[in-house]
Amino acid sequence: MFRLKFSAIPGNPMKLNREFIGNPIDEFSEMYERFTSLYAIKNLIADDELHKRPLKAKKDRVCKFCKAIFNEQEKFKSKAHLLPELIGNKNLLSDFECDKCNNFFGRKYENDFANYLGASRAFNIENAKSGGLKFKSPDKTFIVMKDTEVPLNLPKLRIESHEEENNHFTLDADNKKVTFHTTRPSYNPHNVYKAFLKIGLSVLPHEYDDDYKIAFAMLRSEKKNEEKDDPLFKLNVYVHPGPVFPSPMVILFEKKVRTDLIPTHIVCIMFHNYTYQLVLPLNEQDKWMFDGKKIITVPNMPPFIDKHFAAKFGMPKGHRLNFNLDELKRNEKHDITFSFDDYKDSRFNE
Ligand SMILES: [Zn+2]
Repeated sequence: MFRLKFSAIPGNPMKLNREFIGNPIDEFSEMYERFTSLYAIKNLIADDELHKRPLKAKKDRVCKFCKAIFNEQEKFKSKAHLLPELIGNKNLLSDFECDKCNNFFGRKYENDFANYLGASRAFNIENAKSGGLKFKSPDKTFIVMKDTEVPLNLPKLRIESHEEENNHFTLDADNKKVTFHTTRPSYNPHNVYKAFLKIGLSVLPHEYDDDYKIAFAMLRSEKKNEEKDDPLFKLNVYVHPGPVFPSPMVILFEKKVRTDLIPTHIVCIMFHNYTYQLVLPLNEQDKWMFDGKKIITVPNMPPFIDKHFAAKFGMPKGHRLNFNLDELKRNEKHDITFSFDDYKDSRFNE
């Protein structure tokens, strides 16, 4: 069997323009102008020093999702993460998620979410827990892991391809880019949507919780959404080539004018090489728009990537995703491009 071993070092973490001013990419400047004229930032959560905050004492905690309070039965014992560890959150913990909800979300949604993210997590070794994280393609011919054999104190990936032909990646050595052709493990799109919804609802200031009663109930229920073509349940995603976001960041946008026929809240979720746009659905305050006559639009959010970054590594590409399906997705193709500083290509026959 022919076996290929390949090491690559991901590039320096990208510098993100966190002020959202300055350098939007020219090709997206119109979208940028329009979006920022309609929406303002209401909340921003990022896994960095700036956004750390103290947690409430356990006895004062209330669950945002089911409203349980600290008592004999509910002790808020579990270490709930404010944003999923899967998207690279290392430090942000939650003080508003009870043990029951934590267990339910973990059991019901996180496995599908992990499968959906697939190899992307393994490539994100900056964010990986020390040692363990690994990706194996469903047919086990493609493996990504942290390279522990390399004595340098640098993050390294080892990629092994056990195939006759090299179908697993395309190397662009001149531009120091590599695209991996992977397959996602099977996942249920509906559960992935719920994982995103949970992220969205987690950044919602508490005073809005009542407006989203139905969305919270949906999150806590295993029932599927029956409206197959509801655009509110579709997500946009941008994939940017080049280095990954240094840590996950989630921004809650709120519309500036109440009477605009657009959803009140849009959530921007940035992690790995992705920026997801999620509409917070089923807001009581949006009900008046759904009279069957008014036409509600969902404005497209631009990628918040600095134009110099895009010039260096390539343009983010956007597409639309429909997670509103309750059936297992199998063998979905998943291409991942990233840049590297250096690589070593060692081929040998076994
Ligand atoms: Zn709860």
